[in-house]
Amino acid sequence: MVPAPARFSELVERYDGFLFDAYGVLVDAAGVCPGAIAAIDAVRAAGKPLRVVTNDASRLPAAAAARFAGVGLAIDAREIVTSGQLLGAHVAAAGLAGARALVLGTDDARAYASQAGLAAFAPAALGGGEVDAVVVCDDAGFALLDGINAALTAAVRALDQGRRLALVCPNPDLVYPRGGGALGFTAGALAMILEAGLRRSHPDAPGFVYLGKPAPAIFALARAGLPDAPRLLMIGDQLETDIAGARAAGLDAALVTGVSRWRDRAAAPALAPHWLLDSLA
Ligand SMILES: [Mg+2]
Repeated sequence: MVPAPARFSELVERYDGFLFDAYGVLVDAAGVCPGAIAAIDAVRAAGKPLRVVTNDASRLPAAAAARFAGVGLAIDAREIVTSGQLLGAHVAAAGLAGARALVLGTDDARAYASQAGLAAFAPAALGGGEVDAVVVCDDAGFALLDGINAALTAAVRALDQGRRLALVCPNPDLVYPRGGGALGFTAGALAMILEAGLRRSHPDAPGFVYLGKPAPAIFALARAGLPDAPRLLMIGDQLETDIAGARAAGLDAALVTGVSRWRDRAAAPALAPHWLLDSLA
């Protein structure tokens, strides 16, 4: 399949509903992305439903909606599906209810973990205490190096003592756009560092379980809220998460180029978007 260059305005009539990634598509650290306000307006004007489907686990939906409103994007909290919302099902399925969980991330990240049934605390509250789980939600909200050092130390201690250790990363993204072409590492990269460090002393240590895109759960959650929109288009800026995940979930996908660049990767059809957009403009 060869991705076709397109403008978003041409795609509105082709689909029943739209799943927008947040960072690099609607917003970046510098503010609203070009064309995003008009794109949301066009979907509303066509009477079609939308969801924001984001790996960001650093804001609860209401906080994300407020942030969008602050840059002129009218999106209801109920239209926002986050990887943080996947924690509850994972905690239940993995039998982690009540587990002492060191959470790397913001206050809202810890709120997701608490709502999911974990006994969640921040790195600064760890002291010399024991952990049953390390949950990597975000790069912000804590002293980064102190936090990952504390997580590594606590995780090694748990395995040294022969205790069960669960490693969970709601946001698998390695890199995020900071605006103006600048990039930053985020949760998925921190999980990789922790896993590599842990394996220095425990080669058979458990690996992180990644919850967000490209795994299917977040797409299933978004679709469950849109039963009357069978033909959905996912619009994202990262091939490995947005596009691969959408394709695996059976959805059409449009790549907004930026973090990922399409270079006619004939060898990677699972990553091929249906559409290429320079922006939402
Ligand atoms: Mg993105």
